[in-house]
Amino acid sequence: ASGYSLLRDPHHNKGLAFTEKERDAHYLRGLLPPAIATQELQEKKLMHSLRQYQVPLQRYMALMDLQERNERLYYKLLIDNVEELLPVVYTPTVGEACQKYGSIFRRPQGLYISLKEKGKILETLKNWPQRNIQVIVVTDGERILGLGDLGCQGMGIPVGKLALYTALGGVRPSACLPVTIDVGTNNEKLLKDEFYIGLRQKRATGQEYKELLHEFMSAVKQNYGEKVLIQFEDFANHNAFELLARYRTSHLVFNDDIQGTASVVLAGLVAALKLVGGTLAEHTFLFLGAGEAGTGIAELIALEMSKQTKAPLTESRKKIWLVDSKGLIVSPRKESLQHFKKPWAHEHEPVNTLLEAVKAIKPTVLIGSSGVGRTFTKDVVEAMSSFNEKPVILALSNPTSQSECTAEEAYTWSKGRAIFASGSPFDPVEYGGKLFVPGQANNAYIFPGFGLGLIISGAIRVHDDMLLAASEALAAQVSQENYEKGLIYPPFSNIRKISAHIAATVAAKAYELGLASRLPRPEDLVKYAESCMYTPVYRNYR
Ligand code: NAP
Ligand code: MN
Repeated sequence: ASGYSLLRDPHHNKGLAFTEKERDAHYLRGLLPPAIATQELQEKKLMHSLRQYQVPLQRYMALMDLQERNERLYYKLLIDNVEELLPVVYTPTVGEACQKYGSIFRRPQGLYISLKEKGKILETLKNWPQRNIQVIVVTDGERILGLGDLGCQGMGIPVGKLALYTALGGVRPSACLPVTIDVGTNNEKLLKDEFYIGLRQKRATGQEYKELLHEFMSAVKQNYGEKVLIQFEDFANHNAFELLARYRTSHLVFNDDIQGTASVVLAGLVAALKLVGGTLAEHTFLFLGAGEAGTGIAELIALEMSKQTKAPLTESRKKIWLVDSKGLIVSPRKESLQHFKKPWAHEHEPVNTLLEAVKAIKPTVLIGSSGVGRTFTKDVVEAMSSFNEKPVILALSNPTSQSECTAEEAYTWSKGRAIFASGSPFDPVEYGGKLFVPGQANNAYIFPGFGLGLIISGAIRVHDDMLLAASEALAAQVSQENYEKGLIYPPFSNIRKISAHIAATVAAKAYELGLASRLPRPEDLVKYAESCMYTPVYRNYR
């Protein structure tokens, strides 16, 4: 191969890091300036230039360029600077990138499957250069983060999530496939945008939608086999619940918005119990927001409760209440509820507002998952603090502007008694001479390790017990020192180690359930998980 094409191949390019010997052996003489730079020096230079950009989107574009130029350096940057770069590669900046994807689009980073490919999806998959795919993240762009329908421009999400699969979970980049299914968009602004990259039509629904998705799911299984993980991402909730229910018995599927969120939040609650005392079943939960996140979390809490108490699931669910846009979900509303809300319609008279619901239900744990900010008012937090010694308050809505309350508000209004975590990050808060560090219930704690666990065990189905196992594994990573600061999640800087532990626990569960196909079972699963993880150091070319 020519040196020139080596420099243009992102999988092999090392830029100035090619040694004298490599420059001789691979026809690179004269194609590079004389200096030789280590990967560390390249990293230093890039971080320096990234920090010069004031506009987050410019950082995003610079990183995208790097990914297309030098893949290993890109991942080294992500891994070594995870706390700094996560908000660029993922929320919130990726959201802005999706909104402007048409304008910043340079080269396709994933596979686009639109209504035009109907009947040809298998052929389309074969056009992708890599054969050995282990994880697919797929979206139809209808509910991108909290930004709504971005149609085909949702592609930024699967690309970003898979970058995290590699950086945080150690899945090889060549084994990752981002997919966007384009059935149109109902976003008028995009339909009128001359730079829009998707189909210019209203969303296909009903039978037409189902058929395209079904063709995709069948083609994936036919092309990549049973062990490829398909992660559904940012589908609107009416499709999300249905797709998960339809394919969970025939494919290895995982919905991060429902299941990943549930697992990361349950982990935080398990950890919080160390601070507030009691078992899950001794607590009462109230949610504001009964969509993918809210009902997903609620169901996993109920499952874990039932595991611990041996009580039927229907009993455990009674400890959990949800409020949606129409008020408390109660039995008189049952007939008119969407099916995923029905299990939560408990006996109670109608209650209209959150504050009234808090007073009526007297929850020990309050969870915000409505996407609407400023809803945990002073009154709400004070009410929680009036009947709880240590109220657990999780403000999960993203982005920061939509958070139910700030960390400072939670600590101040509860007089320093709240155990608080949020979906978007908040800085530590000083109150009453004590420093409180709020945890972030970031899905990136769970899904990369969870996926790695499925891959290394050769799992063929996702089972709810694996989600519970992942929660336990994450909660076990919270140290005494973390607890003392009020943290219910471990620091993100250890994420590769955390992912390896989650992977090992999930894999162990897969073997236990008879769902693992990689035999024999490795003895030390943590070691095995670590040994499977991709590292981005440069290779030597002889
Ligand atoms: P979703 O499926 O659209 O659900 C939203 C729910 O909130 C619906 O039940 C909706 O009620 C309810 N709601 C909307 N406005 C309301 C209001 N003014 N008062 C009371 N309830 C209201 O959305 P989702 O996927 O669950 O996501 C919800 C939020 O959670 C987003 O902000 C997302 O960023 C966040 N989230 C955070 C994490 C995390 O922290 N790790 C993970 C996932 C999601 P109706 O059903 O009546 O319309
Ligand atoms: Mn999502």
